Amino acid sequence: MAQLTALISVSDKTGIVDFAQALHALNVRLLSTGGTAKLLADAGLPVTEVAQHTGFPEMLDGRVKTLHPKIHGGLLARRDLPEHVSAIQRHGIDTIDILAVNLYPFEATVARPGCTLEDAIENIDIGGPAMVRSAAKNWKDVTVLTDASQYALVLEELKAHGKTSDKTRFAASVAAFNRIAQYDAAISNYLSGRLEDGTLSVFPDQLNSSFVKVQDLRYGENSHQSAALYRDLYPAPGSLVTGKQLQGKELSYNNIADADAAWECVKSFDAPACVIVKHANPCGVAVAATAADAYAKAFKTDPTSAFGGIIAFNREVDGAAAQLVAKQFVEVLMAPSFSAEALAIFAGKVNVRLLQIALPAAGGTTPFEQGRNAQDVKRVGSGLLVQTADNHFLTQADLKVVTALQPTAQQLDDLMFAWTVAQYVKSNAIVFCGDGMTLGVGAGQMSRIDSARIASIKADNAGLTLKGSAVASDAFFPFRDGLDVLADAGASCVIQPGGSMRDEEVIAAANERGIAMVFTGVRHFRH
Ligand code: 5GP
Repeated sequence: MAQLTALISVSDKTGIVDFAQALHALNVRLLSTGGTAKLLADAGLPVTEVAQHTGFPEMLDGRVKTLHPKIHGGLLARRDLPEHVSAIQRHGIDTIDILAVNLYPFEATVARPGCTLEDAIENIDIGGPAMVRSAAKNWKDVTVLTDASQYALVLEELKAHGKTSDKTRFAASVAAFNRIAQYDAAISNYLSGRLEDGTLSVFPDQLNSSFVKVQDLRYGENSHQSAALYRDLYPAPGSLVTGKQLQGKELSYNNIADADAAWECVKSFDAPACVIVKHANPCGVAVAATAADAYAKAFKTDPTSAFGGIIAFNREVDGAAAQLVAKQFVEVLMAPSFSAEALAIFAGKVNVRLLQIALPAAGGTTPFEQGRNAQDVKRVGSGLLVQTADNHFLTQADLKVVTALQPTAQQLDDLMFAWTVAQYVKSNAIVFCGDGMTLGVGAGQMSRIDSARIASIKADNAGLTLKGSAVASDAFFPFRDGLDVLADAGASCVIQPGGSMRDEEVIAAANERGIAMVFTGVRHFRH
């Protein structure tokens, strides 16, 4: 059998001497680059330096070592094509059968504190990935090894059969391309992170769309699940991940999920607003002249559920608001800013997590400018559901009055408020409101009529009257019975998408019960 040739060029020299020794024992010829060759020669192995093999010195501080036709021809030539075989013979190129390469330690270099851009750049391997790609492309003839953990299997096969199996070579090729993809992603992520704001927009369509890890979390939704938080490489201004934690315990997985729901909702209001979230649903939302008043109203909706809640404001938390909030057990408190007095009040409550998040600049028209995601993703069994995010924001001009009774200006305001809240309540969502606050929230039920009943029971439990209230339903009423529940509870006006086969029946019910009803033409399912 013809003698096999192995080219070995590794930065991480773990296990390489043993591997080379075993190859030598199997009569494999050894080729190697400077540092690796020295190590093998010092171990007493007969090794030919690549520079000697190519007749070309390593140069430019190692930037050019193996980038030579004698190397790449030897890796890429197909042994089954006579033209390939005669071409390399003509040019004095020897075939290379085994390639063991691991790359300059780019990832470890950039992970070191104080790593400069120059350090990072010098640790971008060029010739290594080029050889790995050549060998991996030609996997039928070449075994490519990119990790020390692969050496043993290859030696075993060589010992047993004098060659590696097709299966092993193909798996090694796939592993090699995976390693190159990972390496290039690390380079792209690192360099992308060095783009300044001003240079971000030079090639906006060529930006890296990957995620970077913010932190490992203690656990996931439950304590047996592990978890981490990732953020977009370029987070939208005003989005949750741009927030800064000022004090308190580490945020948990559930804290972050709930904080996101609260922050998305509170951002939707222009007036000073407060949103209290529990288990991903708002359990109290209000607008008022001040942050303190908004909180007081929001809290009234459901004081029981507000216990241990996640609270978001779209205005500074001042002393007055802080004093009120500090009376309840709160997990996370979010706001664009906190006054010195507010900070002093919470300084004594070390467990409360204070999160300061800048609001997105006013007037933004794209999701990015509004600090929102353009897309939503959700994992399903071995798949990913992707959709554009629910970024539809209604204006009063979009409303269509469908009843004999027209809503008053006050009712229209209340309906718009209720609709905004309903967008952030899990389906089926029914939200009773009045005077700029939620009065009863029915969330996540499998039937709309149950959500309506629950919302009204909760208002009753909180001692709130629903007489004259405005109600939002996130999707249409399939039958009139849901609307009857709202009317029985005291609703005076309703906002809903419309579009049911039985719209006529529901409109007739509204007319009969003296309710003013408007259609939005869009729904807000949220699952
Ligand atoms: P050595 O320690 O043997 O001198 O160098 C081994 C490292 O050099 C390996 O990480 C290998 O990927 C890398 N390498 C091999 N050829 C080239 C080349 O032509 N250019 C660059 N920049 N790196 C190379």
